Order: sequence, then C-alpha cells, then structure tokens
Amino acid sequence: MHLSQDQHDFRDTLKRFIAREVEPIADAVDREDRFPAELVPKFGDMGLLQLRLPEEYGGPGANLTTICIAAEELAKVSETIALISGQNGIGLIVPLLHFGNEEQRRRFFPEVAKGRTLTAVAITEPQSGSDVGSMKTSATRDGNGGYILNGQKCYITFAPVADYITVFAKTGSDGDGTHNISAFIVDTKTPGFTVGKAERKLGLNGLPNAPIYFDNLRVPLENRIGEEGEGFKICMRILDLNRPTIGAVSVGLAQGALDAAVKYAKERRQFGKSISEFQGLQFMLADMAMQVEAARCLVYECARVADEGFPSEASFREFSAKASMAKCFASDMAMKVTTDAVQIFGGAGYMKDFPVERFMRDAKINQIFEGTNQIHRLIVARQLLS
Ligand SMILES: Cc1cc2nc3c(=O)[nH]c(=O)nc-3n(C[C@H](O)[C@H](O)[C@H](O)COP(=O)(O)OP(=O)(O)OC[C@H]3O[C@@H](n4cnc5c(N)ncnc54)[C@H](O)[C@@H]3O)c2cc1C
Repeated sequence: MHLSQDQHDFRDTLKRFIAREVEPIADAVDREDRFPAELVPKFGDMGLLQLRLPEEYGGPGANLTTICIAAEELAKVSETIALISGQNGIGLIVPLLHFGNEEQRRRFFPEVAKGRTLTAVAITEPQSGSDVGSMKTSATRDGNGGYILNGQKCYITFAPVADYITVFAKTGSDGDGTHNISAFIVDTKTPGFTVGKAERKLGLNGLPNAPIYFDNLRVPLENRIGEEGEGFKICMRILDLNRPTIGAVSVGLAQGALDAAVKYAKERRQFGKSISEFQGLQFMLADMAMQVEAARCLVYECARVADEGFPSEASFREFSAKASMAKCFASDMAMKVTTDAVQIFGGAGYMKDFPVERFMRDAKINQIFEGTNQIHRLIVARQLLS
C-alpha cells in the first residue's frame, strides 16, 4: 500500500496522540462502560471527528485512505474509541456531500468543521434489520411543506450523545419498500425525539447504543436529503462508502491483538523455555500475521479505488463489491486473529488483565453491523453472477 508523505506524517502524529490520550483510558472505558466524552474536543481539535469534511468547508479534507489510517491506528488500542472518529463521518458529512444541496452544506458544515458535533445514522428497526425495505418509521407531509415522523429505531450508535441523526423513513406505501424511503436530518433537540435505555452489549463498551423514538416529530422540508423516495439509494451508498473503514478498524484490532500475542509469547516460559520457541505457536503467529496483512492490502486497495473517484455507475458498483469484500474479509479475519491471540495467552487471555479478551469481544460486532457478513457475501455473489 502506498502512502504519501502527508499520510505518513499524519500516522506518526496520530500514534503520539493515541499513546498520550487514548491508551491510558482504553481499558477503563471498557471496564466502566463509559462514553469518553473528554475525547470529543480533543478529537475535534485533531480533525478526527470531521476527517471527511472537504477543505472548502473548513475541514481536513481527508481521503478514504487517510480515514482508514486513523481507524486502523485507533483500533489497535480501542475499537470503541476508533468508532468515535470512524462513524461520525456517515451521520451528516457523507450524506450531505453526496446527496445534499449546497444550502444544506452551507447550513450544517460550518458547525461540523468546529469539531464538536456528534452524529448518528438511524436505519435499523426492531423488525427491520438486513431487510431495510421493511422499515415502518413513517414521514408524512404535514401540509406546511414539512414532514411528521413517527416510529422507532434500535441499536443506534451515538444516539444518546448525537446532535444530529440522519433518519431513514417511509414516505409512501406503494410497491417495493425500497422505493419509498426518504432520508432526513433530525436535530435531536426537536420536540418528539426521545432516546431509550442504553443497550448492554457483549463488547464496544463505552460506545452508547440505544433505541430512539419519534412521536409526531416535525422535520422541515429543507432537512430532507435528496429527493423523496431516494432514501434507499442514499442509505446503501453511505454504507458502501463507510465499509472500508470497518475493514480498517478490523485490521487495527487484529494487529493490536497480534502485537500483544507476540510480546506475551516472548515473555511467557513453559517447559523451561519461552513459549515462542514452540513451533505450534510460531505457526499460529505466522498465520495471524499473514491474515492481517492480506486484509490490510484489500482494505487499502479498496480505499485507493474510492480515492480515485467514480467516473460511472458501473465503477461505483465495482467498488461496492470490493467494499463488501474488504469489510467481510477483514472482520472475519479479526474474529479469528483475536480468538487466536486469546489462545496464545492461555488462561491469562481469558482474564481482563490483558486487552486481548476485549479485542476478541469487540471483533464480533464487525461481522454484524454495517450489513452482516452473510449480506456481504450475497452482494459479492450477486456481482460475480451478474
Ligand atoms: C453494536 C451495534 C451498533 C449498531 N449501530 C447501528 C446504527 O448506528 N444505526 C443503525 O441503523 N443500525 C445499527 N445497528 C444495527 C445493525 O446494522 C443490524 O443489527 C444489522 O444490520 C443486522 O440486522 P438484524 O440485527 O436485524 O439481524 P437480521 O437481519 O434479523 O439477521 C439475523 C441473521 O439472519 C441473517 N440473514 C438475514 N437476511 C439474510 C439473507 N437474505 N441471507 C442470508 N442470511 C441472512 C443475518 O446475516 C443474521 O445472521 C447496530 C447494531 C449493533 C449490534
């Protein structure tokens, strides 16, 4: 993978920032299941909350490769904390850049550029997960040019702390469910918006996930993103554009686990020698390293394709299949590598004294959210067979 000098410099600066600000709190964030709000302004000042915002709107204007570097480096220490940077881009910046109008960009981006705004995306509902078209949350015209939202969403990342949420809702009931979804920017201070009890989870402790409810919540017309009925396309596209970052988070998590396993294997002694001298463990470590590197190549190749732009719809479709491959392959890899890291630690790996058990718990989510890995295999197969 080829990085520019600026990207090398960015990574070095980020590594120093992570050692100073992230490493010391990563374990406590998990143990106390506490959202590290103190990192929000620090991330904002580093540009990490608004990496995707173009320079013309006051942002750092990072491309997808740079965003993947940030995701990978942060996830080597904590996936929860990596997602504070990684997920914030798809709540407002990506939808408005690709589907919003200039008036919306001028209205929201100056605030986003300050690096204090947290955002979320709300697609999933209790009965509607992989089958996005079956969502029930409705947005009906209110006669004054706006919409009234009613319904609920679940598992929404950052819901309790988000300033704005891009919400997908049905604006019609005709035909195929995928043709009558629209996208709206919801200001979470709007009357009719409530957040439910935060979820307790297997991993990603410290990252707030909660259901949200819309009770006759009014959204002005100027907060609709794109055309009415364009929501399904918007939803799929922002997820496609974000998938390489989930791949990068998975690579970081796996690399963090591998580094910890190598260090432990060198230190731990059994049968009078370092366990790293046992060929059985050497082969495990070598396989882990190969898998991490293979996933890294796929993820950054995918980011490179995106950074070169999409001259046609066909080129975007090709990228979309690659993005699914990168997300699916890297997250399956991270699940395996983090599990193997726990194995190399033996009983100590099962204890909370070392980060590998956290890495293993956190790895599982990457196979589930942003489209389950079964859905990604369907996407890849569809592309192959089309
Ligand atoms: C921690 C966390 C954070 C999340 N954050 C957000 C968020 O911010 N915003 C948001 O909108 N959503 C979010 N989600 C929701 C997430 O995207 C969904 O959980 C995911 O898309 C799967 O949907 P589901 O849980 O309803 O599973 P289901 O769709 O019910 O799937 C159940 C099982 O069936 C399989 N399956 C379903 N359809 C098929 C098929 N056609 N072929 C083969 N297998 C199939 C799935 O792969 C899975 O194994 C989050 C979830 C979690 C756990």
